[in-house]
Amino acid sequence: TVERLRPFGSTIFAEMTALAVATGAVNLGQGFPDTDGPASMLTAAKDAIAGGLNQYAPGPGMPVLREAIAADRSRNHGIEYDPADQVLVTVGATEAIAATILGLVEPGEEVLLIEPYYDSYAAAVALACARRTTVPLAPDGSGFAVDLDALEQAITPRTKLLVVNSPHNPTGMVMTRDELVRIAEIACEHDLLVLTDEVYERLVFDGSTHVPIATLPGMFERTVTVSSAAKTFNATGWKTGWALGPADLIDAVRAAKQFMTFVGGTPFQPAVAHALIHEAEWVNALRSGLQAKRDLLSTVLSEAGFDVKSSSGTYFVCADVAPLGESDAVEFCRSLPHRIGVAAVPVAAFVDHPAPWKTLVRFAFCKKDEVLNEAADRLHTLA
Ligand code: PMP
Ligand code: GLN
Repeated sequence: TVERLRPFGSTIFAEMTALAVATGAVNLGQGFPDTDGPASMLTAAKDAIAGGLNQYAPGPGMPVLREAIAADRSRNHGIEYDPADQVLVTVGATEAIAATILGLVEPGEEVLLIEPYYDSYAAAVALACARRTTVPLAPDGSGFAVDLDALEQAITPRTKLLVVNSPHNPTGMVMTRDELVRIAEIACEHDLLVLTDEVYERLVFDGSTHVPIATLPGMFERTVTVSSAAKTFNATGWKTGWALGPADLIDAVRAAKQFMTFVGGTPFQPAVAHALIHEAEWVNALRSGLQAKRDLLSTVLSEAGFDVKSSSGTYFVCADVAPLGESDAVEFCRSLPHRIGVAAVPVAAFVDHPAPWKTLVRFAFCKKDEVLNEAADRLHTLA
């Protein structure tokens, strides 16, 4: 392995899923749903295959999907992207993230991450021979907030790109409009590009709203917005995502993307387009179902003695193990499958500076109620 990839041997999700499988544990570690997406979307993919859509799609993605993505953003957020040159279909959000960093950041330039951060950001920065700097989220009541002063202080003359992720994996925080407005001002003042990972854009709870940072003043021209069908339509295995932005930035992302995968799986593209156009009600039901699952798991964790953090979005809720007499969440997560048959992931796996996160564990609640109830029975034995 080349030196720059050595720190990224295997992902925490792969490690914990393998442990869950080996021990027969209920897997609340890796975030993937255990039910299928909308039936009409599944049928559309089958029809696409039967109908002969089995060869390479156009480089930027099938027009029907690019148009559906642009129309969806326009309808939900009032922001206009031209499907011709401002929308790029990718192999999941993961490829969009990597291609954005590879296409826009020179070796040695800095990418500023807010930690905890989704693991692929740091690996993509390393692939680009760029440097990462980080600023931690700050505790805020039972949740987290962006430390705006620390964020600004972390910017150096070499900082090229800021990565924003809201709704946020792993904490489940949803950045407020005020937070995002201030982040946008900082990005403009320091002339930064912004990569915003919005894969959980529709999974927000308690009536909170998702604000795309690209809609804020001065941001369209400096922002690449990334999202994906994975979380919106329970289709993590379809690896169909996209990047949106001004044509010059999207062209740079495309230049990298074309030599990573050239194109993604063709038959998924019209199916995801169909879902974006016709399945808004299905997504609403998914959202309210997930909110109830968040409540269920939060209550169980609290009853089991964890200090549960608030989650306003995503698939995830974090909980502190310190009240259980535990001092190291990594050790806790390695032993939990053996002890009680539940798998989870330590938040320390998402940071460069573990100290403030040492006792925090992330649990995924995107599972059938019977699975969550089984996990509940097992977690209650900790109390
Ligand atoms: N970003 C975040 C914050 C995620 O949690 C994930 C995991 N699904 C991804 C990106 C990757 O998305 P995809 O599966 O579409 O590549
Ligand atoms: N995004 C998912 C999570 O955070 C997992 C994706 C992966 O396994 N790489 O759990």
